[in-house]
Amino acid sequence: MDRLRHEGLGMTSQRTRNRLIQRLREEGISNEEVLNVMASTPRHLFLDEALAIRAYEDTALPIGYGQTISQPYIVARMTELLLSRAKSLHSVLEVGTGSGYQTAILSRLVEQLYSVERVEPLLEKARKCLTELGHHNVEYKLSNGGFGWPEKGPYDAILAAAAPAVVPDELKQQLAPDGVLVIPVGSEHQYLTMVTRRQDSDQFDVEKLEAVRFVPLLSGVVR
Ligand code: SAH
Repeated sequence: MDRLRHEGLGMTSQRTRNRLIQRLREEGISNEEVLNVMASTPRHLFLDEALAIRAYEDTALPIGYGQTISQPYIVARMTELLLSRAKSLHSVLEVGTGSGYQTAILSRLVEQLYSVERVEPLLEKARKCLTELGHHNVEYKLSNGGFGWPEKGPYDAILAAAAPAVVPDELKQQLAPDGVLVIPVGSEHQYLTMVTRRQDSDQFDVEKLEAVRFVPLLSGVVR
């Protein structure tokens, strides 16, 4: 990755990025680790060149295949929730790689990340970008992430970027004791939902948080 593209100019410069971080602070994001990682992650490189100038606006943007790169605020919020709740972050699962932007943020905060996406061209583009940027602690899989990735589990934390109508049981079952799942849930009205697995038990605590808008969790694979 050449240095100039990575550092960015004008609308992708560090100054522009810092304005986004300031805005996230104003919106209530307070975890410095999350803010630092977001300040140094080049979101513009996860977008098509024509949209790069909008990369540091706090908004979701199209990435093709009817999908969107998540809004920075929601990436920060979900990551902050995981960090505040999970007892450890050795092994983490992400459902819905998309552009790879959330993957980039998470991979710098956890030991090993597993990322599942159902649209092959998106997955391959994200994999290429993340590899070029040096994110080497990520493994990828093309599949319906509603079923998780059981072979690699259990996970200390699971983060989903697409909304099912109800929390998939498979994802709950792949949580380690004390593990945390952060996921948007609902069809017409979605809420960010946090599911925690109790230590030494099959019991789960469910907390319904703020209203959100995500793309739906779909089944099947697109090649
Ligand atoms: N965090 C990503 C969000 C992308 S949008 C980003 O910032 O770019 C959500 C993604 O979830 C889309 O890429 C969509 O294809 C994917 N998705 C939807 N249903 C899925 C499923 N069942 N399994 C895996 N990925 C899924």
